Amino acid sequence: MEKDVERVLVDEEVIGKRLDGMAREIRADFPDEVILVVVLLKGALVFASDLLRRIPRMLEIECLNVASYHGGTSSSGQVDFLDHKLPEVAGRRVLVLDDILDTGRTLRAVVDRLLEEGATEVKTGVLLAKDREREAEVEAHYVGFEIGDEFVIGYGLDYRGRYRNLPYVGTLKDEAR
Ligand code: 5GP
Ligand code: MG
Repeated sequence: MEKDVERVLVDEEVIGKRLDGMAREIRADFPDEVILVVVLLKGALVFASDLLRRIPRMLEIECLNVASYHGGTSSSGQVDFLDHKLPEVAGRRVLVLDDILDTGRTLRAVVDRLLEEGATEVKTGVLLAKDREREAEVEAHYVGFEIGDEFVIGYGLDYRGRYRNLPYVGTLKDEAR
């Protein structure tokens, strides 16, 4: 697996330090309420599990299966909700976690959907935000790292379902695509 990595963009130690900071920001914004976290699968799995264990607070974790990539290396433009039932968010402030903000369509669609379901407020957190123009207007309240506009893998992010378990974020060699 490691031989397919072209370049390490953000290593494990740097990610860990930044997650400490993000956890502090989130704790400060949700002072004394039970935090309802919605984790977008599967990309945010690794990020969420490392981040949420740094938040020593009462919280509830829900997951939402969304797909926008369909196995390739560029966004398909369509956001599919794959669950039969959405988490119960009515009357709650919600924290949504995703792996990466790219075109913005995924987060936009999820935020809209949760607001439709009655969430009172939706805050968003992403490990990575690509430095590019968004195609959907959306705000990420907590951002781990800004990266260039290139395809990345690792720390939850996949290429054709693989590489999610790399402990760092990196780029993929051309010959591995
Ligand atoms: P958006 O809807 O903002 O265009 O894209 C968000 C989703 O696309 C993310 O949840 C992620 O699954 C996927 N994505 C965007 N950029 C990348 C990337 O560089 N690498 C991988 N593996 N997935 C990406
Ligand atoms: Mg994804």
